[in-house]
Amino acid sequence: MLKIENLHAEIDGKPILKGLSLDVSAGEIHAIMGPNGAGKSTLGYVLGGRPGYEVTSGSVTFDGQDLLELEPHERAAAGVFLGFQYPVEIPGVSNVQFLRESLNAQRATRDEKPLSGGEFLKLARAQADDLGLPQDMLKRPVNVGFSGGEKKRNEMVQMGIIAPKFAILDETDSGLDIDALRIVGDGINRIMRKPDKAVLLITHYQRLLDYVQPDRVHVLADGRITRSGGPELALELEREGYGAVAA
Ligand code: ADP
Ligand code: MG
Ligand code: MG
Repeated sequence: MLKIENLHAEIDGKPILKGLSLDVSAGEIHAIMGPNGAGKSTLGYVLGGRPGYEVTSGSVTFDGQDLLELEPHERAAAGVFLGFQYPVEIPGVSNVQFLRESLNAQRATRDEKPLSGGEFLKLARAQADDLGLPQDMLKRPVNVGFSGGEKKRNEMVQMGIIAPKFAILDETDSGLDIDALRIVGDGINRIMRKPDKAVLLITHYQRLLDYVQPDRVHVLADGRITRSGGPELALELEREGYGAVAA
């Protein structure tokens, strides 16, 4: 589904990704772990097409398409979802408005009819219930005044509504208490653990991986993948630290 080959990318002329290669097949969940500043979030932004991140060489294909050629909204329409490490607040725009517009914009690119207010609300309420997000939060401005855990649950609600083919989740576990971690983990499994979907799960800690069992675990250090393995690699990292394992 996703094939990254020898990717180099820089920000403001500073090289961050330095020859990163990665293959993710449909039906798989891959975890990316690594020290602070390794380039994990940069990888997510480059895949999402965030302005300011310049790819200097290498390639990324998604479902056989050149992903780097596509505008950010075209990537989203193609089925790529990016969950942020720090979800943005959008004062003045309600959560339901935002979610409905996002979904309908994507449906439009697939020649699907927009969902009516009623249809959409039903979908949004079901997702909010599944993720333990209080219904009234759907009416509030996007993420404004939400706690860290609520922002992450909200992001999972958004993912459940959009139902992407491929999700890049950047430190979705940061700031979550144990109960929220389980809810988010269950959400990722329920929404994304499907034969035709795949996930890149960026995380600092092993604990999310107790809930979302990865098929592969990779260490990203200094802009490239330095080691890959199965779920046991995450446990080894937790025990011994990145220094010993990733060097
Ligand atoms: P990680 O997510 O692995 O902690 P990041 O991808 O956020 O790492 O950052 C990788 C490196 O890129 C860091 O050294 C960081 O300081 C640098 N960096 C990130 N964003 C910018 C930016 N806008 N301008 C300059 N350097 C940046
Ligand atoms: Mg970081
Ligand atoms: Mg990061």
